[in-house]
Amino acid sequence: MSANKKAWNWLPPLPIQSAPIFVWPPRLFGAIRFLFSSTFLGSIMLPYVLLAMLTWYWLQPELARCAEFEAGWILQLLGRNALLIFIVAGGLHLYLYVFRLQGTDRRFESRELQRDNPRFFLRDQVKDNIFWTMISGVPVWTAYEVFFFWAMANDHLPYYLEWRNHPVSFVLIFFAIPFITSLHFHLVHRLLHWKPLFRIAHEVHHRNVILGPWSGFSMHPIEHLIYMSSVLIHVVLPSHPLHIIFHNQWNSIGAAATHSGYEALTFQGKPFLYLTSFHHQIHHRLLNCNYGNQLVPADEWFGCNNDGAKEANKLRTQSHVS
Ligand SMILES: [Zn+2]
Ligand SMILES: [Zn+2]
Repeated sequence: MSANKKAWNWLPPLPIQSAPIFVWPPRLFGAIRFLFSSTFLGSIMLPYVLLAMLTWYWLQPELARCAEFEAGWILQLLGRNALLIFIVAGGLHLYLYVFRLQGTDRRFESRELQRDNPRFFLRDQVKDNIFWTMISGVPVWTAYEVFFFWAMANDHLPYYLEWRNHPVSFVLIFFAIPFITSLHFHLVHRLLHWKPLFRIAHEVHHRNVILGPWSGFSMHPIEHLIYMSSVLIHVVLPSHPLHIIFHNQWNSIGAAATHSGYEALTFQGKPFLYLTSFHHQIHHRLLNCNYGNQLVPADEWFGCNNDGAKEANKLRTQSHVS
């Protein structure tokens, strides 16, 4: 493949900046501005909290039904999770890659999603990604929900957070979840790059060098189990079922946005919904850096951050795809 074809189609302003939350010295105003920004509040908190509310109020079996392990409510969760990720990942894929309604505006890669490539199941990247998402991802995500709703219905968890009694904690926990998952992702992701685990499990996700919405949640079952385990924090963190739903949807459906290959959805050339940063796109090309995301700058703390600046020229001509 020629160097030219490996060039990026579009690069954001570099170096990539981390969120000004866990930084030293503290940046109070920067932190507040970020938390209320269109990138965080407008593109992470509001859409996913709304989706979690829609799920809880309209698509959720009554908690009392979840006290016994029965096929009815478990299949309802499985079906709704399959449907939700199908709508979001499938919708983004149709919008960006089939009908190409945004063209290449804010798209990082210049190359197309891969077809007729033996590294993928059925030799097709999108089919491979849909397969792993639906066969492994949705059942593992559902299994974590089944555990929590069963435990909550039986009062097995030490804390249940009633929002009427603790409205401030209720809201703060939503804000904390993306930061908790960011740190957890960095740590377990480094573990997944340990050679034996990479070969057995993480290789499935890294078949994707060129990313599309279906690539995000395309993982081996072992990786799904490890990656989704951040939700277990709610065993000890006082939580409402809405927090469980939000946490899992951010990890699963959110991955469709963060792997969409586009920085943002735009309208008349202006971004209105932020999708993802260049940070993880670099990880999929180079593999040896950027294990977390920019909410918690763990990659900076542990010396494995690539902010894209020094690498910009190299990145224009380098790739693991051969
Ligand atoms: Zn990824
Ligand atoms: Zn990786």
